[in-house]
Amino acid sequence: MNLIFFLLWGYIMIIGAALGSFLNVVASRLPLGMSLWGRSRCDSCHQTIKWYDLIPVFSYLFLRSRCRNCKHPIPASHFFFEIITGALFLFWFYRINWQFTYEHWLLLVLILVALAIGLADYYYQVIPDQLLIVFLIATLLLRFNVLHIFLLGSLLIAFLFWMINHFSHGTAMGYGDVKYVFVIGLALPLQSLLLAIYLAFLTGGIVSAILILLRKKKMKSTVSFGPFLSLGFITALCFLI
Ligand SMILES: [Zn+2]
Repeated sequence: MNLIFFLLWGYIMIIGAALGSFLNVVASRLPLGMSLWGRSRCDSCHQTIKWYDLIPVFSYLFLRSRCRNCKHPIPASHFFFEIITGALFLFWFYRINWQFTYEHWLLLVLILVALAIGLADYYYQVIPDQLLIVFLIATLLLRFNVLHIFLLGSLLIAFLFWMINHFSHGTAMGYGDVKYVFVIGLALPLQSLLLAIYLAFLTGGIVSAILILLRKKKMKSTVSFGPFLSLGFITALCFLI
């Protein structure tokens, strides 16, 4: 690999990590009804974070995962989420073979929104409607000519999720998951949709089992399903392209 490619890849990863940092702000603030545009503050001492301490990935390492002012630990999830977004961003451009079509940009928007939805659900057990609306708009722009075909699969899966939600009284599946799976169904053809749902249940089941075995969770307590739906959706999409 020559140097230019290496630099280009590094550059794209950094943009991806910066987007991940922004999505993290979105996922942490939207469910609380906070503005997305205010400066970032420390969760503990509420000191405004200086711009040079907001550099994705590097600031976390440089500050040794602590606030510069009060030494309160910065959650590792921020760091990992930035790395995952950066790596996924790079992988996406590699996967689509550097074609920058209208459709590929819309699919990238869907991936980024899915990441934010997964993270918001992980943080607060809530899927913000604003993110679902952005997801829906990008999906409508993408699939307007096949919408009538995708709608049936979408409704069927959403109905299945609604039944699980209804009969478990919301313990096995939140209402946010029902809405989320409905918009995912509009974005994916039926085969990919089934793959996404299968992967979500498989990974969700494995993670829940591990958490129960490690006694981090009780049998009755719920694990957010949104992150696994996002994982299934993004994986299915990468296979589809
Ligand atoms: Zn602090």
